[in-house]
Amino acid sequence: MTDHTIDFEVQAREGEARAGILTTRRGPIETPVFMPVGTAGTVKGIRFEELESPELDARIILGNTYHLWLRPGIEVIRACGGLHKFIGWERAMLTDSGGFQVWSLGALRKITEEGTEFRSHIDGASCFLSPEISIEIQATLGAEIAMAFDECAPGEATYEEARRSMELTLRWAKRSREAFERLQRYGTARGSERVREALSGSGLEVDPLATASGSVTTPAQVNNLRHRQALFGIVQGASHLDLRRESLERTVEIGFAGYAIGGLSVGEEKPVMLEVIEEIAPRMPPDNPRYLMGVGTPEDLIEAVARGIDMFDCVMPTRNGRNGQAFTSRGRLNIKNARYAEDQLPLDEECKCSVCRRHTRAFLRHLYQSGEMLASILLTHHNLAFFLDTMRRVRQAIRSGQFAKFRREYTEQLSSGLG
Ligand SMILES: [Zn+2]
Repeated sequence: MTDHTIDFEVQAREGEARAGILTTRRGPIETPVFMPVGTAGTVKGIRFEELESPELDARIILGNTYHLWLRPGIEVIRACGGLHKFIGWERAMLTDSGGFQVWSLGALRKITEEGTEFRSHIDGASCFLSPEISIEIQATLGAEIAMAFDECAPGEATYEEARRSMELTLRWAKRSREAFERLQRYGTARGSERVREALSGSGLEVDPLATASGSVTTPAQVNNLRHRQALFGIVQGASHLDLRRESLERTVEIGFAGYAIGGLSVGEEKPVMLEVIEEIAPRMPPDNPRYLMGVGTPEDLIEAVARGIDMFDCVMPTRNGRNGQAFTSRGRLNIKNARYAEDQLPLDEECKCSVCRRHTRAFLRHLYQSGEMLASILLTHHNLAFFLDTMRRVRQAIRSGQFAKFRREYTEQLSSGLG
């Protein structure tokens, strides 16, 4: 990458663990960082003001290309001035490529060299995503960081399956990078001719602006690319370490602003996941951010940081919160459990979040049992506060040379249980 669309500086190290600053045009992000997931343009169950508040202080959130493309559709977001304006979030964002969501549809998809055909989970309409289409959707969404379009092999994939998938991902990574460069080069040109010219080299059979419903808009509508983005590549290879190493090497050859490990936490055993991270993260380029996609619990985050990861995202704090589960410093607490019916303690005695300062387990259980929406809201708030505070403590520990001690004490406290 020749242009500094993002800047990344590692400022402290302890073992493989790193603490640094990732700077985007929307401000600095201290790493290691946890990114709450905003699937449909909203981090479910929490207001943006609270994400921005000093208590949570989320500096970057995720948007899901697949979901936003299907609904409300890319024309709506373009007409509303891009994703940040549409949702009212001025801090940094990262968009995934849609590859993983399509993968998770399983039997509903068909993969060809060109891209992935699948049926919309909303109305069953036939849809098609390719590297070029994904990159263009992401350019219109306008997040500071976009992801290459990849294919994910299942955790238990055989060597042959994993290789085929990895090779396809590498070809798609190259196409993603090429499409990205074309669009970014012409991004500030608002005239239709230049945009059309930018798109003409993509070799696409389908119109890159084809929508999920199958209707087509004209390329002249690509008018939302006022800012350059950074593109990250994704390392695949399932649990096969030699494939993972090869995938990393060849992804780095293509050249990206950051590198992600994809295809983990998809059904493989936890030691396998940690083994892949341990093998790959320290070999990733030292000067670029390293992003572990879709992982995990707070203890997973700490173990991955110890192996050299800088960025994380996961739906667990929000999804589990909606299902009545709280993450605490002594493990997970299921608020549905009858033992909490008269419990006067907060969710986590160690937690300083506004939910723990105000409410008891007994009240939260009552809300949950009554089907009150506030139960989901409060549990989501606590879980996000807990994840973000854990990362804050991780960063402080690395910067003060206390990370090994922090990791040991965190693990000990976690295993002591809720009592
Ligand atoms: Zn709390």
